[in-house]
Amino acid sequence: MGTQTPRSTWGRWQMTSVERSKKNTARWIEWYLQRRDTAEFQKYQSEMLARNRNTDRFREMSRRQARLYAQRHPEKIKARNALTHALERGEIVRPLECGDCGNAPSPGRDGRTQIQAHHDDYSRPLEVRWLCRLCHAKLDRKY
Ligand SMILES: [Zn+2]
Ligand SMILES: [Zn+2]
Repeated sequence: MGTQTPRSTWGRWQMTSVERSKKNTARWIEWYLQRRDTAEFQKYQSEMLARNRNTDRFREMSRRQARLYAQRHPEKIKARNALTHALERGEIVRPLECGDCGNAPSPGRDGRTQIQAHHDDYSRPLEVRWLCRLCHAKLDRKY
């Protein structure tokens, strides 16, 4: 059948990933958690992102992931939307410093702020902690 397109490879990967056992998934998550903070892995991830960001397949994948995430965590999406609206209306002002370490990181390369909102309780969408990426990652890992 000639050369394989990336699409068919991807389709096969998806099938096997559906068939994967829970044990394998758990092992994979563990593998990922162990590596996601290493410089090597982050370099690989950002390279992959840069390569694939503008492909239709990648966009479709991101959309599907966002949809799945919204289905699994409706309360998070609701809280985030409420917060976004409050920020837009000026009811809440995003601080420049991290509420934990006090650092004031400069905006990222895309111009976006590096101070992120953390919800302790998604049923109170406007009660957030403002944290730098580092402190936020540390905090979220505790939960
Ligand atoms: Zn911090
Ligand atoms: Zn958080």
